[in-house]
Amino acid sequence: MVNRALECKAIRTFHVEQFQKAGIPDSAFEVNCILEQVTGIPWHSIREISPEQRKQINSMIQRRISGEPLQYILGEWEFYGMKCFVGKGVLIPRPDTECLIDLIAQKFRSSEKLNILDLCTGSGCIALALKKIFPDAEITGVDCSPEALAYAEKNKNYHGLDVQLLRGDVLDAAFAKNFNSVDLIVSNPPYLTSQEMQTLQTEVSHEPATALYGGSDGLDFYRNMTEIWKTPLKSGGMLLYEIGEQQAVAVSEILLSQNFQNIQVMQDLAHHDRIVSGDKI
Ligand code: GLN
Repeated sequence: MVNRALECKAIRTFHVEQFQKAGIPDSAFEVNCILEQVTGIPWHSIREISPEQRKQINSMIQRRISGEPLQYILGEWEFYGMKCFVGKGVLIPRPDTECLIDLIAQKFRSSEKLNILDLCTGSGCIALALKKIFPDAEITGVDCSPEALAYAEKNKNYHGLDVQLLRGDVLDAAFAKNFNSVDLIVSNPPYLTSQEMQTLQTEVSHEPATALYGGSDGLDFYRNMTEIWKTPLKSGGMLLYEIGEQQAVAVSEILLSQNFQNIQVMQDLAHHDRIVSGDKI
């Protein structure tokens, strides 16, 4: 009789070696994620893999070897402890962005009835994580991409969180006129430079360029959004951006030039500048 547990172990080892040969850094971790996704069982407890599951695993392994991001293959990823559905057409939530949620959680009291806008919401991960922390807040996520918004809707429904999701162009001043008395505007806009777009990691090149490219110097969104979205912010309201690690000085200057005060730069867990915020006078 075939020892199925041993067979499962051999299958795992085989795929880990395949990933290693393909130069995938966290080979074992990624294979484990795929095995767990297909079988629904923690990888170390898998005792049997059906022929159907085998096929599914093989196809996922091939997609990964061809450079597709693991997150798209799994169809989900975790952000701030929440399951977040992702796939082609939406930016994958990054752990770097979690520090932005931590910071907001420290700045405001959870019972506050805040009016929050999340611009370029993508998968909705920021808006939804904030709604969990601030249940009484009125939160709106805006994005121009129907594909991204479809994921945001799915995530919203999965978590049963009451946030408003709107399709709109954050660079359109007329669209911004629909909003007023906002306490907090948060955004992780596209911020990669032309040069960075030419040297993207294979995985990142599968993500939508519209979610990554911020104009030749990467700062187009900061320049335009700061000017446009200053108006709907309350006096004393806060504007908070995720930034590329080289952009702290430039983005601070943009905020200063638009008369924001109390400009602060904060770092992520890897000690890279990651957030710039300012208060409207
Ligand atoms: N942080 C992303 C990256 O490094 C970029 C996301 C963005 O442009 N907002 O690829």
